[in-house]
Amino acid sequence: MPNAFWCFVEDDRQGMPKKVMAEVLGEAARLAGGQPEAVWITDKASDAGLTQLGEWGAGKVWVLENAAFAPYRSEVWVGAAAELAAKESPRAIFGPVTSRQREFVARLAARLGVGLAADCVGFALEGDRLVATRPIYAGKLLAKVAWAKGPCVATLRPNVFRPADAQPGRTAAVERPAVSIPGATMTFVERREEAATGLPELAEAEIVLSGGRGMKAPENYVILEDMARVIGAAVGASRAAVDAGWRPHRFQIGQTGRTISPKLYMGFGVSGAIQHLAGMRTSKIIVAVNKDPEAPIFKIADYGIVADLFEVVPELTREFKRLLEK
Ligand SMILES: Cc1cc2nc3c(=O)[nH]c(=O)nc-3n(C[C@H](O)[C@H](O)[C@H](O)COP(=O)(O)OP(=O)(O)OC[C@H]3O[C@@H](n4cnc5c(N)ncnc54)[C@H](O)[C@@H]3O)c2cc1C
Repeated sequence: MPNAFWCFVEDDRQGMPKKVMAEVLGEAARLAGGQPEAVWITDKASDAGLTQLGEWGAGKVWVLENAAFAPYRSEVWVGAAAELAAKESPRAIFGPVTSRQREFVARLAARLGVGLAADCVGFALEGDRLVATRPIYAGKLLAKVAWAKGPCVATLRPNVFRPADAQPGRTAAVERPAVSIPGATMTFVERREEAATGLPELAEAEIVLSGGRGMKAPENYVILEDMARVIGAAVGASRAAVDAGWRPHRFQIGQTGRTISPKLYMGFGVSGAIQHLAGMRTSKIIVAVNKDPEAPIFKIADYGIVADLFEVVPELTREFKRLLEK
């Protein structure tokens, strides 16, 4: 349908859409003034997943299901998605900012020959024109951009948009279009390892604890993980900590790492370099713990504690535990 807002589904690879899809579908519904459509590229679309998308407001789910879609290879996904988009001419194509959709949606825009607004934090309709707001210059400025021609392709930053309220019992129509499956030009030679931290996913967490060079050594992250378990937070890191080999790169927050926008960000021993701020400055509440009162992070922090983190962290953990056990 030419007026359709399409939302490409990010799933957990176990057959369920991730909760960030409630945000993408919620924003698409607001802009569409009606029901958005989900497009799910997967090797196995579960019934529970389809139900979930319906409850989050998708009027229709286009299911592109084929064994060739897993593991994710952008050229296979893009070929199939571009074929469907060319046939159906949606008005807009949205996806969440996740590792794979960041790449997939960008390649899809290129294949369709249209512009991409990446990492958007807002949308408005100016008359008939869709206008996106996105941070530029490492988050120092917000730019408004519009598309010269459609479809309007955009990725949406997680934890920024109001999620759709789930309506139990609401269902989506399911359509399984036939698309050609391009041959993969890449093959995987490495194992894929999922490190189970038992903590929420960094990009989706509502609370993120970030440890910087001030953590001093990799084994010290255990104190942040202890606090994270108490309050249900994810643990991230600055690039200095990642470069030192203390944390894997997937936990890096910042310009060359992950962009997060949690309800609460707490930085411990993080100085607040502009490249770090680029990945977390849209957090709703920012707390900084640093023993240097001149640390730049205090300029954007809502709450600051000038102190040694090794004293503050166990103290906070104890206090959180006490409050939550009440
Ligand atoms: C092109 C480019 C891209 C980059 N991308 C990123 C990125 O994506 N993410 C990122 O984070 N950085 C990035 N950087 C690096 C960035 O410039 C900083 O070097 C980095 O963020 C610093 O990390 P940090 O704050 O942990 O370390 P530092 O700047 O060394 O700060 C450590 C802080 O810990 C405090 N501290 C020390 N001990 C304690 C203690 N016991 N208790 C409390 N506080 C303590 C210190 O006072 C200090 O403020 C990038 C740089 C470049 C050039």
